[in-house]
Amino acid sequence: MLERLRTVLIGTSHPGNIGGVARAMHNMGLGDLALVAPRGEVITQDSISRASGADHLLHSAHVCQTLDEAVADCTFVVGASARSRTLPWPMLSPRELAHRLPGECRQDNARVALVFGREDSGLTNDELHRCHAHVHIPTNTDFSSLNLAAAVQVVAYECRVAWLEQQAATPDVACASDQREETQLVSHADLERYFIHLEQTLTAIGFHDPDKPRQLMARMRRLYLRARPQQIELNILRGILTATDKAATDQTTQPPR
Ligand code: SAH
Repeated sequence: MLERLRTVLIGTSHPGNIGGVARAMHNMGLGDLALVAPRGEVITQDSISRASGADHLLHSAHVCQTLDEAVADCTFVVGASARSRTLPWPMLSPRELAHRLPGECRQDNARVALVFGREDSGLTNDELHRCHAHVHIPTNTDFSSLNLAAAVQVVAYECRVAWLEQQAATPDVACASDQREETQLVSHADLERYFIHLEQTLTAIGFHDPDKPRQLMARMRRLYLRARPQQIELNILRGILTATDKAATDQTTQPPR
């Protein structure tokens, strides 16, 4: 299970914090680190010293430019946020998240992304709207923002405890639930392709006005992310959009009777 967890840091400005995250991850047995548009160098004296022996994670980190790229193959994406945002989204505590992980990680193609934001401004709404759920560490409401590495430590610790509990469970139970899961999970990249198609179709049929979006696409994202469609269902949804596109084009090209 732990090998299916990816820690994603977006726009980190202090290399020392990346080192602190590497240490926290390695302490808890996590090894997959992705860095989205880090500001400045990753391998510095400061990051190596804060990694305290976990600097192999800094060297093996996957550096990319966008969140979509970092989580393209992920089947469950969770964004860590210190604040609540305007549009409410499914919210988990680190413990609730950890308890979901054995189920989320069961299938072979399962990959879970734990996404953390910038030290100064956290995650943008656009980034948070790409997540199935948000995780909030219940802190003092007047002083809610943890240091980045400390936030990773808390979430990674809960994941480790859930993994230890799973190890202690009887193998028969794990096997029985394995058999229940026979459907293919959808990747982030497939879902993003669907959202692009959905927005195009809704615009083409005049239901959506990109100049007056009124949170429509964010609400649609929340709906589909909550539903957790299976691959076969997403194929049907794509088929419906393609048929809608065709019907709309046929209607506009048909000569008036
Ligand atoms: N000043 C920023 C917080 C930055 S802390 C803001 O107000 O949004 C850097 C990152 O650590 C955050 O983006 C978040 O991913 C994580 N983090 C910090 N405190 C957290 C908390 N209480 N719960 C969940 N994540 C937290």
